[in-house]
Amino acid sequence: MAMIAIDGPAASGKSTVGRLLAEQLNYLYLDTGCMYRAVTWAALQQNIDIGDETAVTQLAHDIQMEIYPVRDEEADGRHYTVHVAGQDITWELRTPAVDANVSQVSSYLGVRQEMVKRQRAFGERGAVVMVGRDIGTVVMPDAPLKLYITASAEERARRRTRDRSEQGHIANYDDILADVLRRDQIDSSRTHSPLRPAADAILIDSTDQPPAAIVNAILQMIQEPVNGER
Ligand code: C5P
Repeated sequence: MAMIAIDGPAASGKSTVGRLLAEQLNYLYLDTGCMYRAVTWAALQQNIDIGDETAVTQLAHDIQMEIYPVRDEEADGRHYTVHVAGQDITWELRTPAVDANVSQVSSYLGVRQEMVKRQRAFGERGAVVMVGRDIGTVVMPDAPLKLYITASAEERARRRTRDRSEQGHIANYDDILADVLRRDQIDSSRTHSPLRPAADAILIDSTDQPPAAIVNAILQMIQEPVNGER
């Protein structure tokens, strides 16, 4: 089981489940959403027009992005560290401005092609849990285990509101719900790699289940393979 692909809409709990699974299995963990967020952050930073597909795509090719496990001296609640051109931008990736623009950036084919290339290179290290929107369908279609994690939009907005408040930001539930619904709509209806479960994905609704319970169920499933396959 060298590769676990997890997809699902914003704030569905997929990142928490992915991270806990990676910890338990001693796998590497890659949250691919942070890559699209990093391109978006850099475009905003450089005053590139988000509607200018050519310029944003060029930026995606040029961007020098590194994702590291958290070092002791960086531990401030983050789950990984993202550098762009050597600058730590881990928390900048979570701002409302990035939330508002990331779905447009990630709808561009050239941006996706470049990110998928980098994600597959990461996957080649083996023993990876990769989380995103198109991991089971496009990035790692041969992954032996694919999960698609959803939850109701209201529950997802509640979770994101709580996370934001805990991080010390002003968080308005109605605004966050509107953003979650807007991103779901764009992510599911875009032409290139829309958000959808792979045909062979296991569907999990996390609305009433804490991440730890989901992780336990998955670990059990891996340990008790159907027909002795895994
Ligand atoms: O998962 P997260 O909310 O951080 O993802 C931010 C955005 O990045 C998503 O709304 C989606 O537009 C995009 N994304 C994507 N493909 C992925 C991961 C994220 O298009 N594999």
